[in-house]
Amino acid sequence: MTEQLRAELLTWIDENWDPEISVKEWWRRLSNAGLSNPTLGEPFGRSWDRSNTRLLASVIRERGAVGSPAGLGMMLAAPTILSFGTEEQIKRYVPRILDGTDSWCQLFSEPGAGSDLAGLQTKAVRDGDEWVITGQKVWTSEGQHADWGMLIARTDLDAPKHRGISWFAFPMAQSGVEIRPLKEMTGRALFNEVFIDEARVPHANLIGDLNDGWRVGNATLMIERAGIGGGHGIAYAAAHPGSIAKHLDRPVGSFVGKRLALAAGGVGPGTLQQLTDLARDRKKIDEPVIRQELAGLHSDLEIMRFNAMRGREKNQQTGAEGNLAKLNMTSALRRTRELAGTILGADMTLWGKDAASGGVLQEMTVFSPAPSIYGGTDEVQRNIVGERVLGLPKEPGPDKTTPFNELLQNRTNW
Ligand SMILES: Cc1cc2nc3c(=O)[nH]c(=O)nc-3n(C[C@H](O)[C@H](O)[C@H](O)COP(=O)(O)OP(=O)(O)OC[C@H]3O[C@@H](n4cnc5c(N)ncnc54)[C@H](O)[C@@H]3O)c2cc1C
Repeated sequence: MTEQLRAELLTWIDENWDPEISVKEWWRRLSNAGLSNPTLGEPFGRSWDRSNTRLLASVIRERGAVGSPAGLGMMLAAPTILSFGTEEQIKRYVPRILDGTDSWCQLFSEPGAGSDLAGLQTKAVRDGDEWVITGQKVWTSEGQHADWGMLIARTDLDAPKHRGISWFAFPMAQSGVEIRPLKEMTGRALFNEVFIDEARVPHANLIGDLNDGWRVGNATLMIERAGIGGGHGIAYAAAHPGSIAKHLDRPVGSFVGKRLALAAGGVGPGTLQQLTDLARDRKKIDEPVIRQELAGLHSDLEIMRFNAMRGREKNQQTGAEGNLAKLNMTSALRRTRELAGTILGADMTLWGKDAASGGVLQEMTVFSPAPSIYGGTDEVQRNIVGERVLGLPKEPGPDKTTPFNELLQNRTNW
């Protein structure tokens, strides 16, 4: 079966890949064949599991082709809209994510609402067929390239904090939206502050029911956690989707072999191989501590694989697979960082293409704190597992029943 699929994919790529065509055209071909995100169900994908998707990724690499559009539209917006959007909304948004026409960002976190996300203050006030949005978002990854934002905003101030929130498909290119990049310690500006001052979003862009955005947003977060923890094996292009980065009309061949900065955020079987090869090259493969840590990383990866398998078996699920996947990934990433440092020694301090490992492990090390923060911190994942799966008592507090505008902690001056 695998050999048959491999042959089919090779034939498809040989017939369709052409470095001279535009990025837009290549992504349109991938999308029309259900290969842009084959983990999605038909008609958009092929309902594949990760092993088939990995096979596609390896065939794409083997032929020197370019992968699918990356980003939060593909990872989060498409699956959320497929679960909660109307048929019309699905047709409006999902195909344009899969063929890279649109790029998305996630407008969830605020300066006072990260772990306490339900305490968010950005407000949405109804005005005829539209909502008027005012507030501030922060840590908005890829906001500078986004055509659309997954916006959660408060639509009912009198309801308890979890019940007065709604999820909107928010158009970013409008007056009233100001995006300011924030530089992280990798030297890149991955994320941004987004200031929203009386910007507008049509009511038709409400995804899910009014005031049910906590449920919709939590679905987005669960997809994010499982994605950070396991990935879906998709090969992503270094070209940016969407109209703003202006990559769509460039020849797709100009992105061959380029790497996404975000690729530094995950650990997989390739990482173990890379570290083993590196230990061999540096004549450290016989050192007991290094051998022990390589074996430890192998165990981490196996645990991640078993957790993903359990997630696929309905009668084995605990409901915490996404949280556990993310926790496993962040601890494997920390082990990788320490191990890379032990193998590379002082070379770990040198960065750039000419440095050992091409600078990849160094960049991964500097980026490594991030995955234990985004998508909800490690502490928050453990709280969720404790409360929702193990049945431990919730943190005491009035915020489940008290109207949002009566909560001291989140009080606003609206
Ligand atoms: C690289 C990166 C990219 C990001 N991208 C996005 C994005 O695109 N969109 C977006 O909306 N957000 C994004 N975020 C934001 C991220 O989701 C938040 O940073 C995260 O949820 C934590 O919120 P906070 O920063 O406000 O920290 P806080 O919530 O203030 O937490 C501070 C510390 O207190 C701990 N803590 C808080 N509450 C509890 C509790 N109840 N129990 C135990 N410990 C607790 C936390 O674990 C943490 O260690 C990104 C963050 C990073 C680092």
